[in-house]
Amino acid sequence: MNHLLHTPIEYLKGVGPARGAALRKELGINTYEDLIQCYPNRYIDRTRYYKVNELKNQPAEVQLIGKIITLKTVEQKRGKRLVANFIDDTGPMELIWFQGHKWIKENLPLNVPVVIFGKCTLFNQTYSMSHPEIELLKDHEQNLRSAMQPVYPSTEALGNKGITSRVMSRMMQQLFLETQNLFVETLPEYLLNELKLMPKKDALFNIHFPKSNEKLAQAQFRLKFEELFFIQLQLITKNLIRKHKIKGHAFTQVGEYFNTFFQNHLPFDLTSAQKRVLKEIRNDMGHPAQMNRLLQGDVGSGKTIVAFMSMLLAIDNGFQSCLMAPTEILANQHFLGLSELAQTLNLNIKILTGSTKTADRKIIHEELENGQLHILIGTHALLEDKVKFKNLGLAIIDEQHRFGVEQRSKLWQKNETPPHVLVMTATPIPRTLAMSLYGDLDISIIDELPPGRKPIQTVHRFDTNRLKVWKFIRDEIHKGRQIYIVYPLIQESEKMDFKDLMDGYESISRDFPLPLYSISIVHGKMKPADKDAEMKRFAEGKTNIMVATTVIEVGVNIPNASVMIIESAERFGLSQLHQLRGRVGRGAEQSYCILMTSHKLSSDTKTRIETMCRTNDGFEIAEVDLKLRGPGDIMGKQQSGVLNLQIADIVRDKEILLTARHEAVKLLKDDPSMLNPEHARLREIFLELSRKKNIWNYIS
Ligand code: ADP
Ligand code: MG
Repeated sequence: MNHLLHTPIEYLKGVGPARGAALRKELGINTYEDLIQCYPNRYIDRTRYYKVNELKNQPAEVQLIGKIITLKTVEQKRGKRLVANFIDDTGPMELIWFQGHKWIKENLPLNVPVVIFGKCTLFNQTYSMSHPEIELLKDHEQNLRSAMQPVYPSTEALGNKGITSRVMSRMMQQLFLETQNLFVETLPEYLLNELKLMPKKDALFNIHFPKSNEKLAQAQFRLKFEELFFIQLQLITKNLIRKHKIKGHAFTQVGEYFNTFFQNHLPFDLTSAQKRVLKEIRNDMGHPAQMNRLLQGDVGSGKTIVAFMSMLLAIDNGFQSCLMAPTEILANQHFLGLSELAQTLNLNIKILTGSTKTADRKIIHEELENGQLHILIGTHALLEDKVKFKNLGLAIIDEQHRFGVEQRSKLWQKNETPPHVLVMTATPIPRTLAMSLYGDLDISIIDELPPGRKPIQTVHRFDTNRLKVWKFIRDEIHKGRQIYIVYPLIQESEKMDFKDLMDGYESISRDFPLPLYSISIVHGKMKPADKDAEMKRFAEGKTNIMVATTVIEVGVNIPNASVMIIESAERFGLSQLHQLRGRVGRGAEQSYCILMTSHKLSSDTKTRIETMCRTNDGFEIAEVDLKLRGPGDIMGKQQSGVLNLQIADIVRDKEILLTARHEAVKLLKDDPSMLNPEHARLREIFLELSRKKNIWNYIS
């Protein structure tokens, strides 16, 4: 962009040092260019003028044409206010000021035609407007003003400095006067033609001064597309660079272990989705570039076996593998499951967690370094400095949303040539979000459940119906089934939650007494060894009911447990509910999920509960969740940096995102370094953006 656009904002006529400082501080506007990119939040239709007698059912903000005929000060207990009488040819209304009296008294235009604009309220059968915007009709007619009046982002401090939307709009006007024709096109002409995009200059003008609704829509589309397009260019470029520059071990052969397992020990036929995903992984790891793949699959879709067989590929090529899980319970469970599989092949597999004894630790460290250990399963403990692999070829991270980005990259740095990385997540991420956040990762999706699963039946019950629910549980237990009862344990109110859990446990113990029934309990305050012992009792079928907090949320696999009861379900998020539900439906029996709530439910809660009762599809649930919560909330602050978008919204603008992605992929396929002359400008902006806003940092 031209250097004039880099002029400090203070220099713009009508801004000056005080307003300049406020703009810098409140909105981060430092230069002309920043101001032009401060887009309105919304627009108000100013084509319509109302009459006083029409005010009854009108929108909050309206404009009227008339005259102000009197002005008086009204003394009240709570201070003075200034009241003016405004009339048009249909009747009178009042204008009210609580502050700024001196200025109003000196400047209010009386008995001349004016346009007033603001929010109307009805009080004592008279309409009134407080702190209206007032403009002489003759000025109003002359001003560069469009039908759709922009409403700019604002803060209290800006308001106090008199920087209203109208003032912002005037600044924009000034800016356009001073910088006319400096806005150079940023996108190649063929893209503009192909997608019928409004030229940059027109888009900027129309976003601030829309000539019509239609023009505004075109301007918005163009600017949203541009924003998403440049982000995609950066993400995809990063991926390409990784593939070319970041070396990786090429696992050239599919060897003994993999083949023996596949031919003789596979416990079931793989689903076609599992086969497809394995092929993708195999293909990636066959090349001398680091794999960085996200494996998405709904709960129960069978990611574990895919992970195991990927490990075999590494081992076949003389490398070690590791699998990191977010909790000890989960690490243990993976260890138990995979040990069984590994035994059939005489592979050396061990587990390392916070509670691994020093003596065992030592052996693990040794075997890792001399290469005797093939597979290491564990928790965060795998990231400790002492853990050194001889040659780590594949690192698998389960349920990745629990791990921070930093931890992910730390794992890579353990060796000179980084291991291939496979990130598995059971909380499906909507496609658009995955694309925006993990555009640099390749994505594999297992979109098919193993055959013969009966869909879980989910119902909503109020606390007042508990007796019926208890009867249902009793019946299921008598049929030989096992039951989970889960309580929320959410940090802020931990003490109370803990009390709820223990109260619940006590009353369940009373309602399901020994020796007829036996109950396990697992919560975060227990020692890991005690937790494991309780889990084990339940897993072995020695207890009928497992009372627990969300520690059992991820991954736990006990096929005979067929009923999941979630207490205070209104307090759980959608993805958490779905995760919890995923603990049942793992065996041959019909499974059930019962969501218990009080009668008081917010509309969001109702949506969550209804969604859960309607569908078992994790991807559909993720979409609803994204709409309810927004992307930042879902991914956590750490990762949502990328999502600080100026104008686009990845939930609402999904289609535009898909188009931008598609175009970026196409462009970089033809011209990866953007060296083609028609991409010169694009390349320039791309480089400038990469310098300014290094989105790479956010991602890995
Ligand atoms: P998740 O994707 O949630 O981690 P798991 O890998 O734990 O799922 O698999 C869930 C259950 O399904 C396990 O008991 C596993 O043995 C079984 N399973 C996985 N794949 C298949 C398949 N192709 N056919 C039958 N059962 C399968
Ligand atoms: Mg799993």
